[in-house]
Amino acid sequence: MRITPADLIPDPLMLDIVFAPGAVHYAPDVQQAGPIHVTGSADRLEEYRGPHDVVDDIRLRGRVEGEFELLCARCLDPIRHHADQRFDLIFRPSGVDAEQGERSISEAETEIGYYDEGGLLLEDAVREQVLLSLPDRSLCRDDCKGLCPNCGANRNEVACNCSEKPMDSRWGALQGFAGSAKN
Ligand SMILES: [Zn+2]
Ligand SMILES: [Zn+2]
Repeated sequence: MRITPADLIPDPLMLDIVFAPGAVHYAPDVQQAGPIHVTGSADRLEEYRGPHDVVDDIRLRGRVEGEFELLCARCLDPIRHHADQRFDLIFRPSGVDAEQGERSISEAETEIGYYDEGGLLLEDAVREQVLLSLPDRSLCRDDCKGLCPNCGANRNEVACNCSEKPMDSRWGALQGFAGSAKN
């Protein structure tokens, strides 16, 4: 769904949208596990930069809520994640800040995004907010034992033989060589 400043005149646009799985692509290891709900509003914001220089910004405020499936960072098992992210974002027309060149980005400006000529794609904003809601490191449980680096077995489910004495195959070959040299 595209939003342009013209859509927001004279009234703001109220958002109450359900996205089915597949409507938004997140990341290879993040899947939507059911419909997600986006509520809020989009307003037009006039930014006065000079007597005849008005920039049409879009302010997007609201909330995205839904169920997601992530992968455990250690064993790659699926994990449920409930996203409930509130946002208040400002989007400027792309290119409007280009003439200012390399500016230092202050804390306040981190919430500034840009929309291109066709308008702001709501799905892009939703994707970003969902990704922001994710934990830094997703684990199926705090003490997840992960996958065996040797045989790939899930150590939460099976105790493979190599878990007792981890052995590097190159080191093993050297040991065999040393052994045969002695004989
Ligand atoms: Zn795990
Ligand atoms: Zn193993």
